[in-house]
Amino acid sequence: MNPPDSDTSLFSRLRFVLVETSRAGNVGSVARAMKTMGFSELVLVAPRCADPLTDPEAVAFASGALDVLSNARIVGSIGEALEGCNFAAAVSARLREFSPPVWTPRGFAGHIAAQHELRPALIFGNERVGLPNEIVEGCNVLINIPANPAYSSLNLSQAAQVLAYECRMGALGDALPATPVGYHGDAASLAQIEGMYAHLEEALVSIGFLKADNPGKLMPRLKRLFSRTGLETEEVNILRGIARQILKR
Ligand code: SAH
Repeated sequence: MNPPDSDTSLFSRLRFVLVETSRAGNVGSVARAMKTMGFSELVLVAPRCADPLTDPEAVAFASGALDVLSNARIVGSIGEALEGCNFAAAVSARLREFSPPVWTPRGFAGHIAAQHELRPALIFGNERVGLPNEIVEGCNVLINIPANPAYSSLNLSQAAQVLAYECRMGALGDALPATPVGYHGDAASLAQIEGMYAHLEEALVSIGFLKADNPGKLMPRLKRLFSRTGLETEEVNILRGIARQILKR
């Protein structure tokens, strides 16, 4: 299980900043991308769409993240958007001649998750023109999603989703389970499995499927098959139950 997001503070430290966004739908989609990954602080710098927090397209695309959308702050300049932040990251599809160091989303996420004193902001550009050089040059790092070189420009909110996901992974870190979450019974012991194989073999001989005098590779193949599954005690018992029924007939 994931720990509650309050266990780690990155979720309240990281700010998403959108610069001069044109489509209200994208603002709503970014709100949703953020909330699905546990983030909530959204700031809009001089949006080019009217009423981005209440526009029907924004509301529709925000879906269950209406709270993030309606709590977004609208400001007039990047300076106001970054008040209280001490680490600014320009998120850009374009690499530039004069730019801060270029990081991957994962590298950024690891860094800000580990440095608890950082108040980081992710700054995204306009859909058509991206971020102006003046903003990029004032940032600590440039984050580029290493996409297909033949077509590397993601939709604004999809770029935000990639960043939000990586930051979530960075924040949860070791708290994430290494194996898939889900129901697990007790793993069967080797002795239980050996007992099941013997039982199964006896049953297969009894119905003539396995020839005792010419067994071929049937049992090794079945063992290989079962060895790939991670047998649980309960499952071994079921297989033995089947063998028992076969032997009864
Ligand atoms: N034509 C614009 C693309 C803008 S896409 C340009 O050349 O910059 C809108 C925003 O999505 C970008 O400003 C950036 O913040 C983000 N974005 C899209 N693709 C990206 C990528 N491959 N890496 C990083 N950010 C990306």
